[in-house]
Amino acid sequence: MPDPAPPPNASPNDKPIPGTVGVLRIFGVPIRLHFTFLLLLVFLIFIGIGGKQSGMATAIYIIALFGSVLVHEVCHALVARLYGLRTSEIVMFPIGGVSRLEGQPKPRQELPIALAGPASNLVIGLVLLATQHDFLPLATLSVPTDANLVERIAAGNLLLGLFNLLPAYPMDGGRILRSLIALRKPEEEATQIAASAGQFFAVAMGLFGLLSGNFLLMFVALFVYLGAQQEGAAARGRSLTSGFPARAAMITDFRTLSHGNTIREAGDLLLSTSQQDFPVTHGDEVIGLLSRSALMRAMLREGPESYVAAAMDRNFLRVPPDADLATVLPQVLSAGHAALVMDGERLLGLLTAENLYEFMLLRQVSQAQARMTHRE
Ligand SMILES: [Zn+2]
Repeated sequence: MPDPAPPPNASPNDKPIPGTVGVLRIFGVPIRLHFTFLLLLVFLIFIGIGGKQSGMATAIYIIALFGSVLVHEVCHALVARLYGLRTSEIVMFPIGGVSRLEGQPKPRQELPIALAGPASNLVIGLVLLATQHDFLPLATLSVPTDANLVERIAAGNLLLGLFNLLPAYPMDGGRILRSLIALRKPEEEATQIAASAGQFFAVAMGLFGLLSGNFLLMFVALFVYLGAQQEGAAARGRSLTSGFPARAAMITDFRTLSHGNTIREAGDLLLSTSQQDFPVTHGDEVIGLLSRSALMRAMLREGPESYVAAAMDRNFLRVPPDADLATVLPQVLSAGHAALVMDGERLLGLLTAENLYEFMLLRQVSQAQARMTHRE
């Protein structure tokens, strides 16, 4: 089951994945259930009904597989802890677990962290098989009975371990591949190569799922494809922005609103400029940020004659001018509105997703140009 790498620059105050409920803590790591997990339970109970096994065996089978996925994730978390990396949470999705690490492990650390999960399932599977005196033929496993319960749990674990070792980033095997490439190449490049391999495997997996009528596999393939695409884009973004200060990409030609301006005036400014988010000032001091969505909300709820001071966000995203753009990039993208580049209390500029995108385009073009001149 897929197990995406932690989001880049995940921080301790990261919000939990939406749609989850916290259920328990293991070794201090919160384990959350994604609400779609209920679908899996319904599905498993449904396929359990068709077999010749008792209700008790069905329940044991489901709990054992759930426990196996959990052991897999907890093993990732424990090995990460050996390197001083905390796991902010483990989320159980219907197609597997996802552990989110705080921060990015170094390539040498990622290899054992990624290996720990699948290895735990292979060990569980082999130990369970070893407890069985006479092996049943493999074909009998497809019909669930009470007699082959242990073999099925063992087979489930072996499958879980082997499947996760597929070199399809962001699954564990893909992360192992990335960490091996990163021993010889820069990390961002390694991520991009592993992400491309992940997309290739996801397409192959999806086609296989389609041809064999395995919809669960097609679903997993889609999950892997999107994960790989996202990680690849994030790595490209990091490599294009890393080493540049925030001031290099900021907008310096911008308009501000005064706290005494009305929402109507803010709306006029929104139309007459290409700006979407406006810093709100009180004298020389910046006291908030009025985003386009907050403006619209205020227009709807409070009316055009209300003041921007009531609608603005006082806890806006502040960025020091010398902050590394690679660190700022995910913050601006997840904020969904502009960040204010501030030197102490002095406003220097705005950073928006569009501007960061344009900065990256320019970097890409200049890199391509540098390669062309190099070749000549
Ligand atoms: Zn894993």
